Amino acid sequence: VKKKGSRYEREARPIAQAAVLGAGIMGGGIAYQSASKGTPILMKDIKDEAIELGLKEARKLFAKQVERKKLTSAQMAEKLTNIRPTLSYGDFDHVDLVVEAVVENPKVKDAVLTEVEGQVGEHTVLTSNTSTISITRLAENLKRPENFCGMHFFNPVHRMPLVEVIRGEKTSDAAVAATVAYARAMGKTPIVVNDCPGFLVNRVLFPYFGGFSQLVAQGADFRHIDKVMERFGWPMGPAYLLDVVGMDTAVHAGEVMAEGFPERMAGMGGDGDRSAIQVMVDNDRLGQKNDRGFYAYE
Ligand code: NAD
Repeated sequence: VKKKGSRYEREARPIAQAAVLGAGIMGGGIAYQSASKGTPILMKDIKDEAIELGLKEARKLFAKQVERKKLTSAQMAEKLTNIRPTLSYGDFDHVDLVVEAVVENPKVKDAVLTEVEGQVGEHTVLTSNTSTISITRLAENLKRPENFCGMHFFNPVHRMPLVEVIRGEKTSDAAVAATVAYARAMGKTPIVVNDCPGFLVNRVLFPYFGGFSQLVAQGADFRHIDKVMERFGWPMGPAYLLDVVGMDTAVHAGEVMAEGFPERMAGMGGDGDRSAIQVMVDNDRLGQKNDRGFYAYE
């Protein structure tokens, strides 16, 4: 863990303007957090509806702060102007750091990262919020792989303190330093980790999801498993957590993890097996993002 005043921070270039690609669960949360702590952020998506949803979520979070008297309405209005929604790359040449938070699909991420690299300045730091895909692997198609690293937030972004900063094979100290500094400016606790599928947290978490999925496939009641894990002392059980994460995201991530660590990913599909989580996707039960997952939401 790199504490304040570490080598990384001393070398950091301040981030005056950030951008996030994708206005989904994570992109919307990242935009809110950045805006809330005072760093202006462009929020780009390819769909108008996604931008609307991202903004709606940010407004809701700010409104809660007003309700709790932590912000005045005037401060909320001002902070909201820190988020600039967009469907185009106009103004990306002034961005200091980009967080890519589009769908967890290596091909889509490759295309988006190559595209954005052509739009930003040569010192802009590019980061990916991928949950599982190797940073060294994502850097392969980039012209400036030294400016690229992982910046992995957890869901919900405004509540989860940890951010994994992932150093790929070619990542420079300067890129790590800028990312660590931005995470701190957002009020988060960054840890710098080496690259591997799933990094640190998901490498631990996904085999757990696999164990859960296997139990459900064998007939266990997911509610019961959640209750047991809560009694065990975890803030929520695996079914509820999967609803928060999003079933489609978990399936994509599970595939990448299974490729990296086949022996550890039993229960997450592979070998023609349909995992319990895949069955949820097939039934359009994606979790809180579409109000129905293991549980139903209003
Ligand atoms: P999501 O499906 O909620 O949102 C993805 C967004 O990306 C959508 O709004 C989509 O329209 C947009 N998009 C797709 N192609 C795009 C493009 N070319 N340019 C701009 N936007 C584009 O997904 P999410 O849950 O927010 O996940 C995003 C990333 O964050 C994934 O890599 C995921 O693994 C990672 N992540 C997710 C979680 C989680 O709990 N959901 C946690 C940590 C990290």
